[in-house]
Amino acid sequence: MNNRPHAVRKRVILALATLPFFGVVAAFGIAPDTTIEQMESSTVVETVMPPEIQATDSGVFDFWREERISRGDTLPGLLTRMDVDADDIQGVMAAARQNSALGRLASGRTVLARVTSGGSLMLLRYMASDDTLISVERVGDGFRVAEQAIQPEMRPIMRSGTIQGSLFGATDAADVPDRIASAMAEAFSGEIDFHRDLRRGDQFSVVYEAFYVDGRLVRTGRLLAAEFINQGKTHQAIYFQDPQGREGYYTADGQSLKRAFLKSPMPFDRVSSGFTTRRFHPVLQTWRSHKGIDYAAPTGTPVRAVADGAVTFVGTQGGYGNLVVLNHQRPYSTAYAHLSRFGSGIRNGARVSQGQIIGYVGCTGLCTGPHLHYEFRVNGEQRDPLAMKLPTSLPLDARYRALFAEQAQPMVTRLELLRGTNLARMD
Ligand SMILES: [Zn+2]
Repeated sequence: MNNRPHAVRKRVILALATLPFFGVVAAFGIAPDTTIEQMESSTVVETVMPPEIQATDSGVFDFWREERISRGDTLPGLLTRMDVDADDIQGVMAAARQNSALGRLASGRTVLARVTSGGSLMLLRYMASDDTLISVERVGDGFRVAEQAIQPEMRPIMRSGTIQGSLFGATDAADVPDRIASAMAEAFSGEIDFHRDLRRGDQFSVVYEAFYVDGRLVRTGRLLAAEFINQGKTHQAIYFQDPQGREGYYTADGQSLKRAFLKSPMPFDRVSSGFTTRRFHPVLQTWRSHKGIDYAAPTGTPVRAVADGAVTFVGTQGGYGNLVVLNHQRPYSTAYAHLSRFGSGIRNGARVSQGQIIGYVGCTGLCTGPHLHYEFRVNGEQRDPLAMKLPTSLPLDARYRALFAEQAQPMVTRLELLRGTNLARMD
């Protein structure tokens, strides 16, 4: 122990102060860093509700009322709880007859209303979905119901963490939603085989879109940037959509992360990850022992083509059981064995694209428990794909390099910042 961690953290916090729109939590899988947590809670929460409408009635006072919708609640019931008088309830119900969302209120959401001291309803707002606002306004003696699409406020969120037992354990600890964790694994699927390469002490950082309405998270959006330090090697992924709408992940210097070959035929998500917090090695046997890679996974887990190609074998073959063999660009082919069943459309000669499901994990043939036996072949001979120099990716279209660099720089800065918070804690 020395004073260095403290000094490092101070610098990090100063840097964070220059990024006021980023809610930052650095999660370390051990204990939250309270200093950083306080940064998060002090982030300004803006309301996206439209500007207030001035009350026009003659009531002496009017109030904001907000009621949370419980299961079985009806609009008249809610209005009664908000002290709206019977005439107005009737009027609102008449106007709301054409609006189906007001007829079936979603429990868990809230209804916000402006009600006078005399029980007159001035307006009512209800978020029927994440991007739909229904408003009821007083118009003369009656009410007008309007439905409008609204744009919830987007705030990029930054999180980081350290792998203790599993990727999803670490992302849980960092409060990162599953779909963002999966998107990260997907972005790095040409670089890292998360089933085999993950190690305790690996670190990740993510920047992703989060949408807020009224200060509440309503959904997450795209993964904007990610960094994964795997066995000491740093990988980065920066999201970029070019002006023609093509999107993808790139390294900071503009190399596409899309590879001709995926590192693993097994998608990496919570279900298929094969990890519990204690068990850390899902691989049953090493490549050397039997010229293939085994992935333990529950029966029925989808298996995907690692590259574009054509089916050259589909059927049963001795100890392999149900087997699919794909031919890719010469001289490469891949084989997938012990499948419980084949993917739809997988027949001899069929074209497959990278990531397409070619079958499902099983235990057919010579097999002691459900797993995928995967072979990477060069000129028909099994080779260890980890030892291969495989075709690499294309760089970004030259026309968009400047635009990419402009957008990537702030992301790279944020990733560096997150790495800094992690290191401060790890010291
Ligand atoms: Zn095997």
